[in-house]
Amino acid sequence: MSAKRRGGYVRSATDAVERECDRCEWRAVADAYPELIERYQDHLREEHPTAWLRS
Ligand SMILES: [Zn+2]
Repeated sequence: MSAKRRGGYVRSATDAVERECDRCEWRAVADAYPELIERYQDHLREEHPTAWLRS
């Protein structure tokens, strides 16, 4: 047997969450929903300030 033990943990791709912007081609992938919301808010603030203010 040549299986090696790895110290790290394996992240499942199915855990990833994804968000697309309604106003442009922007999209993001993150491991957790709160992180994704934060990135989306950052994007809105920078690219669509008016939309960000309204939300
Ligand atoms: Zn956008």
